[in-house]
Amino acid sequence: MAEVTITGWDTRDVRFPTSLDKTGSDAMNAAGDYSAAYCILKTDSPFSGHGMVVLPPLSSFKSLTNLLSLLQTFTIGRGNDIVCKAIDNVADRIKGRTLSSLVANWGQTWRYLVSDSQLRWIGPEKGVIHLALGAVVNAIWDLWAKTLDKPVWRIVADMSPEEFVRCIDFRYITDAITPDEAVQMLRAEEEGKKKRLQDALDSRAVPAYTTSAGWLGYGEDKMKGLLEETLSKGYRHFKLKVGTSIEADKRRLTIARSVIGYDKGNILMVDANQVWSVPEAIEYMQHLKEFKPWFIEEPTSPDDILGHKAIRDALRPHGIGVATGEMCQNRVIFKQLLASGAIDVCQIDACRMGGVNEVLAVLLMAKKFNVPIVPHSGGVGLPEYTQHLSTIDYVCVSGKLSVLEYVDHLHEHFNHPAVIKDGYYQTPQEPGYSVEMKPESMDLFSFPGGEKGWWKSAEAKPILEGEKI
Ligand SMILES: [Mg+2]
Repeated sequence: MAEVTITGWDTRDVRFPTSLDKTGSDAMNAAGDYSAAYCILKTDSPFSGHGMVVLPPLSSFKSLTNLLSLLQTFTIGRGNDIVCKAIDNVADRIKGRTLSSLVANWGQTWRYLVSDSQLRWIGPEKGVIHLALGAVVNAIWDLWAKTLDKPVWRIVADMSPEEFVRCIDFRYITDAITPDEAVQMLRAEEEGKKKRLQDALDSRAVPAYTTSAGWLGYGEDKMKGLLEETLSKGYRHFKLKVGTSIEADKRRLTIARSVIGYDKGNILMVDANQVWSVPEAIEYMQHLKEFKPWFIEEPTSPDDILGHKAIRDALRPHGIGVATGEMCQNRVIFKQLLASGAIDVCQIDACRMGGVNEVLAVLLMAKKFNVPIVPHSGGVGLPEYTQHLSTIDYVCVSGKLSVLEYVDHLHEHFNHPAVIKDGYYQTPQEPGYSVEMKPESMDLFSFPGGEKGWWKSAEAKPILEGEKI
């Protein structure tokens, strides 16, 4: 691999006005504008001075892929600028470093990146500074993948168990899993890996589930139409938002079950986005048990391990599982959720945690505690990211097929959008981590943007001048 040095970075604040049509709306987040805080790593390539908005044409993409790495984290609007500012602070720690020195011992690099004591004070390893860490770590993976001419999932799939484990900072989790134990677990999964790798190459590694019909702000007709449409496209798992009114939820779930049936092998899931206290969650779900959901997602605060455990214990007799993870701060909280038996489904998020490395730690713990990985993907760019993580889980770690969320909007802004066919994610083959946004989309939706930008248009006024909810 030719030596590549990181010479600098840019950040971009990109926001899509999804609050206008209530895409993404749920019981807690009524009006989100799906946003991306981008970290663009620049390298010592002669072309890096062109800046991030002048990307090479696709025809020359392969030969120029070590120029830049564009990686984002996800927010839902206001505050995206704060994440960009935090990225500046974290990315400064790798300026001047060679790529090979960063990836030679990834676990150590990760530890180094969370060890700036002054920045650590505003975490540690959680919140805005951790979102920024995730963007920077993922950008390094993207850059590495491009220099190797591989998709990120394939780099990991080609690693030995020892190399996989070296990616992880095991501090705070050795009471749940040690590096030696992790190596043994990965070795045990080597059998059958060849077949699973072929499944990945055949795009049969990651079945998709859909949330497209489920946003709370969608009318019942729109919801029904979208359920019918997604059913006809081959989906078998459907998730709906709940949590504002038992009556309205019962009506919507009745419609959903009338479309997908009870005995046709179709699975229903519901998501409350943290709206309840623990006793409320248990009580509310008694009213929805007749609809036989596989799980209730985020029934309460994402930090409440004991609460999730209590809800899980109460709902188990009704056959309803508990899922969480999209706002789980880090591997330490996941350790507690998994080891205490508080969850049935582990919903890692590609951006919430500190990038690929921390996700790998959680995949291993989920495997150990026999909890399936069902990543959170409800956000711009998230399906592009998580398809890699689910593929890694299937090929290297769990060895079992799971499902992965897919939301059907904003993919047109990406150079290599996630694609679903026959109910499966089409395994990404292009080098990198798949979240490069088209330069024209980035320019148009930059915030606050230039005079020709969307956010300076009359259309933006209702959002900018409206009530902040
Ligand atoms: Mg959710």
